[in-house]
This record gives sequence, C-alpha cells and structure tokens, in this order.
Amino acid sequence: MQMWIGGKGMFSADERWMPVINPATGEEIDRVPEGTLYEVDAAVQAAESAFDQWAERAPRERGVVLFRAAAMVREHHQELAKLLTAEQGKPLRDAIDEVRGFANILEFYASIAGAMQGELVDLGPSADAIVRREPIGVCGAIIPWNMPAILMGWKVAPAILAGNTMVFKPASTAPLTCLSLSSLMETSGLPPGVLNVVTGRGEVVGEAIVRHPGIRKISFTGDMETGGRVRELAGSHMKEIHLELGGSDPMIVWKDADIGKAITGVMKGRFYNAGQTCTAVKRLYVHHDIIKEFVRKLEDRVHHLRVGNGMDPSTDMGPLSGRAQLERVVSVVNTVESKVQGTILTGGHALSGPGFENGYFYPPTLVTDPVPECVLLSQEVFGPVLPIVPVDDLENAIAQANATRYGLGASIWTRDLAIVRKVFSSVSAGIVWVNRHVTVPPDIPFGGVKASGMGRENGIQAYYAYTRTKSLFIGW
Ligand code: NAD
Repeated sequence: MQMWIGGKGMFSADERWMPVINPATGEEIDRVPEGTLYEVDAAVQAAESAFDQWAERAPRERGVVLFRAAAMVREHHQELAKLLTAEQGKPLRDAIDEVRGFANILEFYASIAGAMQGELVDLGPSADAIVRREPIGVCGAIIPWNMPAILMGWKVAPAILAGNTMVFKPASTAPLTCLSLSSLMETSGLPPGVLNVVTGRGEVVGEAIVRHPGIRKISFTGDMETGGRVRELAGSHMKEIHLELGGSDPMIVWKDADIGKAITGVMKGRFYNAGQTCTAVKRLYVHHDIIKEFVRKLEDRVHHLRVGNGMDPSTDMGPLSGRAQLERVVSVVNTVESKVQGTILTGGHALSGPGFENGYFYPPTLVTDPVPECVLLSQEVFGPVLPIVPVDDLENAIAQANATRYGLGASIWTRDLAIVRKVFSSVSAGIVWVNRHVTVPPDIPFGGVKASGMGRENGIQAYYAYTRTKSLFIGW
C-alpha cells in the first residue's frame, strides 16, 4: 500500500519499502513506503492547502462528513477487520469491535459538532468582548500499533471536526488499517489534504512531524521514553503537545466483590489484545479472604483460554505484535524466574510447536506472591503476564496501587460505596472504573497523570483541545 498524501497514493522519495508482517505466521502480507522528510513536507503542504476551505465550513457540515465516513466504515467492517487481524494479530471478533469502535468515535464527534461554543463577555457599559474558538491549523498525530483504528479515531475525529487538518503517522508494524480508513474517509467526502498519512520509521518520519514548523500541535501516543523525546522536541519548537503514554494499571478486588464478574474482568482486562493495551490490568491486588478461591477459579479460566491465529474463530488470544515484543516479554518473565521474584503459576515460556511455528505466541502467565521488588510491579509489561498480590487493608492496597510512576487507569471491584469513594479520591489515575476495567467510551475524557502523559483524548474536552480562543474586544 502507498502513503496517502493530498488525496493520492505516494511512494517514498528514496524508493525504500518496509514489510508488514503477520505476527501469527511471520509472513509478509504487504509493504509500505519508508517515508522521508520529503513526504512529511509534502503532507504538511497538502494539509496547509486544504486548511482554509475546511476550517471555513460550519462544524455541523464537517460532522456530516464524519457521519458518512462512519456509515462507510460499518459497510466495510469485515474487510477492514481482516486487515487489522492480519497486521496486528488480535482475534477477528476483537478486530471487528475495534473497527466498529472507530465508527462509534466518528459518530460521537459528529453528533456533538454543534456543541462548539464561544462566549460573550460583559465588560461594563463601555465595552464587550466576544471569545471565539478557532481551529489550531495543521496538527500532527503519531500512534503505536496496539489499537491502530481506535487510536486513529481518538485523534483524527476531534481534530478534523474542529476544522484542523492533519498529518498522521501510524506505527511501522501496523499501518494498513489506518491507510484504508483514511482513503475510505475521503471516499465519504473528506476533502483531499485534510487527512494525510505518512508511513515510515519513528526516528525519521515521527521526528520530522514533531519538528516541522508548519505543524502547530502534536498529539502522541506511545512509550514513555519516546514521549519524553517528543515533548522535548515539540517544546523547543513551541508547539502545543498532548501525550498518551504507558500505564501500569492496578485492579483491586475487595472481599465483597462478585468473584465471577471480577474474574471475567481480569480475563478481558489482562488478556484482551494479548495484554498489549495501555489500560490493561497490569497489577492485580486481591483481598486476602478471597484470594485462594479467586486464584483457583482464575487459573481454571486461564487453562481454557485458547491462544492461536486470530483468523481462527476459536481463538481467544492472538500472538504478540512481533518478535521485539515477544523478546521483551520473554526477558521480563525470565528475570522473575531467575531472580525468584514470584511463583509462575501458568505459562512462563513462549509457545512453540504445531500452530505456533513462525508466530510470536506467549501464553497467559499468572505470577503469584511476587516479592515487592518484582519487576512486574515496577515495569509496564506489554504482554499477557499478571502478578497477583494479596492485600487486607484498604489504605495499604491504595498505597501499593499508587507505588508506580504511571497513572493511567485503576479499578476497584466491590459493592461498598464507601470503598469506591475512598479509592476514587485516593488513586492517582485519569480514570477509575468500578466493577469494570479497560472500557474507554469516546464520550468521556481519557488520559493519564504522572508519567502516563498530559492532556486528554475523547469527550467534548478533546474537541475543545483542538481549538484555541481568539478574543474580540469591542469598545462602545
Ligand atoms: P513507541 O513510542 O515505540 O512508538 C509509538 C509511535 O511513535 C510509533 O508510530 C513510532 O514509529 C513513533 N516514534 C518512535 N520514535 C519516535 C521519535 N523519536 N519521534 C517521533 N515518533 C517516534 O511505542 P510502542 O512501543 O510502539 O507502543 C507501546 C506504548 O504505547 C506502551 O507504552 C503503551 O502503554 C502506550 N500506549 C498508550 C496509550 C494511551 O492512550 N495512553 C494507548 C496505546 C498505547
């Protein structure tokens, strides 16, 4: 597939390509151009040329384009989902949900198009002021590979609805769904140049987007260290910046919790997308009184979870996204084993043998009784590995939940409202779930505190965040 710039496909100036590998089979399924500074510049020029006419349209008119695009994505959801599974690995039914999720995001924003409002400020008898919200200009967006359609929707929908144009960079390993979505959006009436997709390496294309003087705002999702670099670069070029970084979400299961529901919550919270989700349950704290029963039932569910190629309808969990990801998970679990940092109850080694020969498969891995310095409690592990810690005092459970540099999400599983209130007010996180985990609807703001980032995706807040105010002072 080619890059998508100014309404047409484009090759790389130096004619280099990057393979896109199916993580379940190791096969090359397609290739995309390895972009250079030249294509980033071409994309910025296309976005600048499209800006005035797009920004002049009424918000509701822009919303109509998003509604049309959502309908088209729904119509083509099967083929888009197959592409997503092939390049990223998640089971087809999860890929279908993700593609529909992209349509949901477009529809949510289209439905609040008219909600963008300014202000009339009374300055006394001799003056008034009007405060208007305007688009920022050309915005840059950079995303990772774990949920390409959803992450693309979170950035593209509010930005273009607010009248901005965009230069977008998908991850090198999963660019195909994003390219297909952008061309479908144009078929639905999005003018060429409003959304431009440049493929390539982060250090080249990503950095060029962050540095480019024509781009006024950067929205980045990815690793904490890359985010730090992006922040430095964007700051030195005086750009607005929004960062969605990693997480090490705690899930606290209290003694009065519905154990069956909480176990289902862990299965989805940790093993959805093979554990490669920013808001996955990465640390599990279970009340001492129920932990034995809880672990026994969880282990049983884990034994029934089917790992395999996402195209197989019986698969519950697909492969990791690639070799590098698999190697990271193997190394972290080897550390737990070699340093005796906990008991590996299930899994613990990469899968091999029939069905797993060329893919990057790792089984669901439960680790009980992790020692306080266990690497699983301090690092973000992007894979299906879960440390389970017993707790019996709420203050202590909250202190452990907060003992991380991250602060993305957290959940409490209980029926006791006083506990909910305490956890909600004491846990450092951008979102706290009660008897749920992972779910992030487009209607509510989402983002992290501490090293998990700054700024918010979703909700009307993200729509406003893609605008800036301009004041008109009127003297009478
Ligand atoms: P990554 O930082 O390596 O890559 C993310 C994107 O940044 C890719 O497109 C990459 O090409 C690009 N990039 C790499 N180097 C760059 C540079 N120097 N300048 C500009 N762009 C550059 O992240 P990853 O490992 O692919 O993704 C996993 C991380 O993303 C995890 O930490 C996960 O928690 C996080 N994540 C966060 C959220 C959220 O909403 N908070 C959502 C999904 C994933």
